Amino acid sequence: MTTRFDAIIIGTGQAGPPLAARLTDAGMKTAIIERKLFGGTCVNVGCIPTKTLVASARAAHVARHAADFGVVGGPVGIDMARVKARKDAIVRQSNEGVAGWLKAMDRLTVYEGHARFDGPHRVRVKGERLEAERIFVNVGGRAHVPDLPGLAGVPYLTNSSMMAVDFLPAHLAIVGGSYIGLEFAQMYRRFGSRVTVIEMNDRLIPREDPDISAAVKRILAAEGIKFRLSAKCLAVAKRSDQIAVAVDCASGAPEILASHLLLAVGRIPNTGDLGLDKAGVATDARGFITVDDELRTNVPGIWALGDCNGRGAFTHTSYNDYEILAANLLDGGKRRLSDRIPAHALYIDPPLGRAGQNEHEVRASGRKALVGKLAMSSVGRARERGESQGLMKILIDAESERILGTAMLGIEGDEVAQSILGLMYAGASYKVIERAMYVHPTVSEYLPTLVGDLRPLRR
Ligand SMILES: Cc1cc2nc3c(=O)[nH]c(=O)nc-3n(C[C@H](O)[C@H](O)[C@H](O)COP(=O)(O)OP(=O)(O)OC[C@H]3O[C@@H](n4cnc5c(N)ncnc54)[C@H](O)[C@@H]3O)c2cc1C
Repeated sequence: MTTRFDAIIIGTGQAGPPLAARLTDAGMKTAIIERKLFGGTCVNVGCIPTKTLVASARAAHVARHAADFGVVGGPVGIDMARVKARKDAIVRQSNEGVAGWLKAMDRLTVYEGHARFDGPHRVRVKGERLEAERIFVNVGGRAHVPDLPGLAGVPYLTNSSMMAVDFLPAHLAIVGGSYIGLEFAQMYRRFGSRVTVIEMNDRLIPREDPDISAAVKRILAAEGIKFRLSAKCLAVAKRSDQIAVAVDCASGAPEILASHLLLAVGRIPNTGDLGLDKAGVATDARGFITVDDELRTNVPGIWALGDCNGRGAFTHTSYNDYEILAANLLDGGKRRLSDRIPAHALYIDPPLGRAGQNEHEVRASGRKALVGKLAMSSVGRARERGESQGLMKILIDAESERILGTAMLGIEGDEVAQSILGLMYAGASYKVIERAMYVHPTVSEYLPTLVGDLRPLRR
C-alpha cells in the first residue's frame, strides 16, 4: 500500500522540523521520517551536549583558579557521573522538545525508521511506501572513522560514543586537532585527564590563519595539553590495557600510550544507505548531495538541506538552508546559498568567533586590503576577568571600505564576531565602527581601536 503526501522530509536535524512546520502551515499533508534521535546531531551528540560539557569544564577551571581572585576554599573535585547527568538532562529537554513538537503538528505524520528512496518520488520506511511530489533530504552526517592500521583491534571513541562517558579517562589521545577535537581536548584536560592531541598538519585548525592557530595552541598548551603535530603515518595497537598510537612525527617520542582514543577527523554524510541511486540523485565524490544555489538536487522535486549537501557543516548553515528554501518555495522569495556570509566559532575557552574571509583567502582574492590586529591583553575587560589570551583581527577592502572578514579569539569572541557579521551583511564601511560609541567596559569598545590602526595587507 502506498500513502500519498504533498511532501516528505527525511531526517529531523536542524532544517527538517522547521520546514515541516512551514509546509504543514501552508496546508500540505507532510511526512517526516527519523531513524534515530529526534533533533539529530546538534541536539543529541553535537553542539548542545558539547557546549554543556564545556560549561562544566569551565566551572572546574574557574573553581581551580578561584584563589587568583581572592576566593579561597577547599580542593576542587569532579564528579563525572554528575557532569554527564547534567548534560543528559539538557539534551533530553531539547530532544523531547523536538519530538513533542513534531508529534503534535497538524497535518504531519511522523515515521520512526530508516528511510530509503524507492524511486524519484517514492520512499520506503519500515515496509511502508510513501509518495510525494516534493522530497526534502536532511539526513546530516556522522564521524568519519579513518582507515588507520590496527584500528580494528583497539577500542575507540567518536563524538557520539563520548556522550556515554561518565568516567575520567586517565590519558585521552585525540586524533584530529580541529574544531571538534580541540573542544574535547580542553574539556577533558579541565576535568583532569592527561590529553594529547595528534594532528597530521603542522598546525592546529589548519583552515584558520597561522597566527590564530598559534594563539589557540598557546592557550591550550598553557593548560597542559600536549600536541603532536605533523603526525603522519598513524597506526594504533593494543598494549596491555593501553592504546599505543604510533605518530611518526618529525620530532618527539614515536609512540604515545593512552588509556582512551578519540577520533575527531571530520564528518561524512549519511547518504550511503539512502537509495539515492534509485531516485537518480547525484552526489559528489565524497557522498555529499549536489545542490544548486537554491538547494535543488539534479532531480526535480528533491532538495537537500544541512550537512548532507556539503555546503555547510553547522547548525546555523542547516537552519539557514531551511530559511532559504522556505522563502523560495512558500513566500515567493529568491534567496540563494551564495548570499550568505560564512561564519563559525570554535568553543574552546576563550572562544574563537569567525566571520567572512581569513587573511589567506583575502590574499588569494588578489584585492587590495587592510588588516587590523589587537592583542586581547590590551582589552580592559579581559584583564579584569583575568582572561587576556587571544587577539582580534579584522580585514577590510581598501577600495570599498567594506569588511571582508574577522577573527575574534578571546573572551566573548563568538559574540563580538557576530556584531561585525551584522555590519558585513549591511555592506557597511568599517568607518561605521570608528564613529560608533560602544559601552564601557566591554570587548566591543575596542573595535574602534582595532580599525583605527589598519595596515596594508602584504601580498
Ligand atoms: C561534537 C560536535 C560539536 C558541534 N558543535 C557545533 C557548534 O557548536 N555549532 C554549530 O553550528 N555546529 C556544531 N556542530 C555541527 C552540527 O551539529 C551540525 O552541523 C548540524 O547538526 C547539522 O544538522 P543537519 O540538519 O544537517 O542534520 P543532523 O543534525 O545531522 O540530523 C540528521 C538526522 O537525519 C537522520 N537520518 C539520517 N539518515 C536517515 C534515514 N535514512 N532515514 C531517516 N532518518 C535519517 C539522523 O538520524 C539525524 O537525526 C557540531 C557537531 C559535532 C559532531
